[in-house]
Parts: sequence; C-alpha cells; structure tokens
Amino acid sequence: MSAFDVDLFVIGGGSGGVRAARIAATYGARVMIAEEFRYGGTCVIRGCVPKKLMVLAGRFADDFRDAAGYGWSVGETRFDWRALIAAKDREIARLEGVYRGNLERAGVTVRDGRAVIEGPHEVRLLATGERIRAAHILVAVGARPSLEPTIPGGELGITSNEVFDLAEQPRRVLVIGGGYIAVEFAGIFAGLGSETALLHRGDKLLRGFDEELRDKLGAAYARRGVELLLGRTAEAMERTGDGIAVRLSSGETRVFDQVLVATGRRPNTAGLGLETANVALDEGGAIVVDAYSRTLCPSIYAVGDVTNRANLTPVAIREGHAFADTVFGGKPTMVSHEIIPTAVFSTPEIGTVGCSEELARARGGEVAIYKTSFRSMRATLSGRDDPVFMKLVVDKPSDRLLGAHLMGPESGELIQLLGTLVTMGATKADLDRTIAVHPTAAEELVTMRTPVA
Ligand code: NDP
Repeated sequence: MSAFDVDLFVIGGGSGGVRAARIAATYGARVMIAEEFRYGGTCVIRGCVPKKLMVLAGRFADDFRDAAGYGWSVGETRFDWRALIAAKDREIARLEGVYRGNLERAGVTVRDGRAVIEGPHEVRLLATGERIRAAHILVAVGARPSLEPTIPGGELGITSNEVFDLAEQPRRVLVIGGGYIAVEFAGIFAGLGSETALLHRGDKLLRGFDEELRDKLGAAYARRGVELLLGRTAEAMERTGDGIAVRLSSGETRVFDQVLVATGRRPNTAGLGLETANVALDEGGAIVVDAYSRTLCPSIYAVGDVTNRANLTPVAIREGHAFADTVFGGKPTMVSHEIIPTAVFSTPEIGTVGCSEELARARGGEVAIYKTSFRSMRATLSGRDDPVFMKLVVDKPSDRLLGAHLMGPESGELIQLLGTLVTMGATKADLDRTIAVHPTAAEELVTMRTPVA
C-alpha cells in the first residue's frame, strides 16, 4: 500500500493545473486538484476568453459602418452592456462546467477551496482541514492583478478582475498601463463607445514589441479616438460628485467614471506555505523552477504564471503537459520558451512571433526587412480606416525567417501559422516559392520580394 493518498496534488484549476492533472491521470496517476475560485482560472473566468468576447462585441461598430458601404441600410444601432455581460457570464459558466467535467471524466478527484502546502508531501484543504499526503505537488496558482503603483486614492481604480463584471458601461474611462491588458481594454471600451483615454508612463504602447508595430498601433488607436496620455503617470485619485478625479504628473486633473489599472500582475505565492517545503521564490515572488518546472524541493513542481516565465495561457498548458509527461509518462520533456507566437487583441489586432527588427539588429546579425502597409479590402468600400501592416525579419546569411510582425484583421489567426514557420526554421525562399492565395491579405506574406532594409 502506498504511503501517499495521491500520486499528484494540483493546487490551482487554471490552464496549467487542469492540463497537468488530466494528462497525469491518463498515465494512471491518482490525482486530486483544488481550486479556490472557479475552475478554468484566469484565462476562462476573467481573462482571455471573456476578453475576446468583449473585443468581438466592440468590433460590431466597424461592421455596421462597413455594411453601409456595401449597400446595406443599417438602422439605428444601440449597445446594451448588461446584455453582453449576461451573455458572457452564461458562456463562462458553461466553459467552467466543461473544465470540471473534463477533470472528472479523466478520473481526477476535484475539490473546491483553498489548499496550502504543509511540507514536501503534504497539503491541507482549508475549508475542511483535510490533510492529503501526495507523492508530488504541482503549484499552478497563477498571478493576480496589482493596483500599482500605490498612490493616494489608488483603491478607487479597478483591475482586470473587476472589469468583466461592471454593472454599467462607463461613459468616460481611463485605462492605466501600456501592456497587453491596457491596450486590449482601451480598444474594447473605445469600440463599445466609451470615451476612452489610455495613460502610460512610456512614450509608446507595448514595450518589447517591434518598434514600427508600436508606432502603427499608437497611430491607429489615436485615429480610432483613444486619447493617448503618454509619458505621464497618475499621482492621485479622488472621488468627486462627477466621478473619479485623476491628477496626472503633467499637472492636469481629469475626471472619469472608471479607472482600470493594468500595470502588471504578481504571482499568487503569498500564504501558500511554500516555506514549509523550502520552495524558493525570486525577488518578484515567483517560484523558481528548472527547465522541467521543478522547484528546489524535488517533490514540488510549478507551472504557469506563478513561475513568471512567459505569462500566456498556451505556455502554461504546455508546461503543465510537459510536467505530466516528465513525472508520470516516463518522457522527460523540457519546454522551450524561445519562440512564442502571440496576439494582442487590440483593434486593429496584432500578431507577433520571433525577433523584432531591433532585437535582430542588436544581436549583430545581418538582417533583411520586408514590409508592406495597405487598407484592408473589407474597408475599401466603406472608406473606414482599417490599416494592415506586415513585416518580416529575415537573417540574411541563412535566409531564415527570424520574426514576423502583423497588425490588421485576423493577425492572431495568421500568426499561429507564421509561428509554425518560424519554429520549423522556414526561409524566405520557402515563402517565395509558396503560391499565393488571392485575393487575401495574407498573400502579401509570400509576395514581398524586395527588402526595404
Ligand atoms: P504587462 O506586463 O503586459 O504590462 C504592464 C504595463 O504596465 C506596462 O506597460 C508597464 O510599463 C506598465 N507599468 C508597470 N508598472 C508600472 C508602474 N509602476 N507605473 C506605471 N506603469 C507601470 O502586464 P499586463 O497587466 O498588461 O498583462 C499581464 C500579463 O498577462 C502579460 O504579461 C501577458 O503575457 C498576459 N496577457 C496576455 C494576453 C494575450 O495573450 N493577448 C492578454 C492579456 C494579458 P512599461 O512598459 O514601461 O514597463
């Protein structure tokens, strides 16, 4: 008889934890999982999925304009925030059920409530006091948004945890930050008709992305009516009769109905009992792991945002799967974080993979740049501003595709396949000998012939 109650205890029922639990169970492991909020985690409950639904909602305004350009008479349109939130909530509840059902069908024992670590092989469920002895423990508790920096009145702001459940659509909204969440929500609110301002300490959005993409997105946002308050910070917030007054470092004070603070997320490691098993944290509170997601305690592993490697759902899923393969499938598997295709669901949408032009040049190699800009075909008859930008970064000596940077409709879809090309080491010659699909935007990717630099 085993000295352990389970072979694996997973703390956290988000993307990484659920995948690890299911795969481990299919290898025959006895698995128990605990989630303190709702199964599905940030991605499903208050992240990627509801966000994308809201992005799609905001884009209908463009569709109505385009339809008119094609001869359709579009009557009066009106947006109902509460109807959207209710429909979104139904879909999220459905998905939560799917996650839970998938775990149960795989034979995983599902618990609700917070679990804490009490030693290298011991977990306690706080709600019941139940103690479980586990051969392995996987920490997949994710991260949480932070209301930073701390400023007077800063607690008047909301985070991405609350924004999905607002009872009313804000008429005037300020989004603070220049990363994924700030950019996406500024686009959502502007699309849905809120007066939207974006406040960011830097001079461009999306630090780390290709510089030209950053320029193009900023220009597109400004044209779509997002007021960009760049090179500034918020110094204080105060509730007034008219809303939330935000004092800016530039000296002005502006009033909004809601302030969404999207200045980053912090790993959820506090109060988890990690010290009882000597699990080391870095200076930002993230769990330190090796390439197999193993912590300094040999029986404890960690995957996903709590490790602050690449904080993206598909990466957490890959890490969770690799962990299960390694520990229970007899297939030691490392996850490469080198090439990660990613999309920002701004409008216009961004898709990016591999090296930016700047990074490729900084690495000292000889690079060739191919790029093109045009208006999307769909917007030609309506005259709507719908820019498309495509840039390929190629290593000259080897002809290998190092990076691709897209802005425009369906860039998220396109970058998935370009991600495959970059991952497999495709060359510019491979693109050149590919027959174009016409008329599409994507054909430009295989018809650009002359490097611009
Ligand atoms: P990001 O790290 O992407 O962006 C944080 C932003 O806040 C940056 O612009 C940063 O500025 C700014 N910031 C940080 N600290 C301060 C401060 N003290 N004062 C003022 N501004 C500050 O975080 P997000 O919260 O937007 O997103 C969290 C994670 O979630 C991301 O890492 C991303 O991987 C993931 N995500 C992915 C999505 C997708 O795949 N589509 C969608 C949403 C989230 P600066 O640039 O100057 O550092």
